[in-house]
Order: sequence, then structure tokens, then C-alpha cells
Amino acid sequence: MTALAEAPTFHALEQRLALIACGENSRPGKTQACDVHRGKGPTMLRITSTGAVDALAAAICGSGHKHNRACAPCTDKAVKMIRVYNGETV
Ligand SMILES: [Zn+2]
Ligand SMILES: [Zn+2]
Repeated sequence: MTALAEAPTFHALEQRLALIACGENSRPGKTQACDVHRGKGPTMLRITSTGAVDALAAAICGSGHKHNRACAPCTDKAVKMIRVYNGETV
């Protein structure tokens, strides 16, 4: 069971990142990301761990944006997610 010891923490972080990507302030008391962003959780967590803001912002932005660059709000979210991942209080 030792191999699974970190799983709950990992999962909680994934949920937290997904919520930020989804827009945690988009509605009062929102505590869960939507299915779309939850589904992207593992991918976003992996990119967040690399610290690549551009790649992470693109993943958050997803196919909803037709231009090549992630939009400013998604870039802000990416920066915040990396800070959360690094254990900073945001
Ligand atoms: Zn969402
Ligand atoms: Zn965007």
C-alpha cells in the first residue's frame, strides 16, 4: 500500500488545478471544476509540473480558441496553477 500513499494528495492537487483552470471565481461557492476541466486534470497536472506556462495556458484554453496563442485570462490561470503547484499561497 505504500506505493499509493501519495495518491490522495496528488488527486487533491489535480482537482485544485482543474478548478483554477475552470475559473474558481466564475460563480460564488464554486468548489468543483466542470467535467471538461476535470477531464483535463491529469494533462494539466503533468504540464504544470514542468513549469511551462505557455504549454499549460494552451492546454487550459483548449480548442475553444482558434488563434495560436492562449488568451490572457488562461495565461494568468497557468501562472497561478504553477504557483499553487510549487506550494505558494495565492
Ligand atoms: Zn470548466
Ligand atoms: Zn483562453
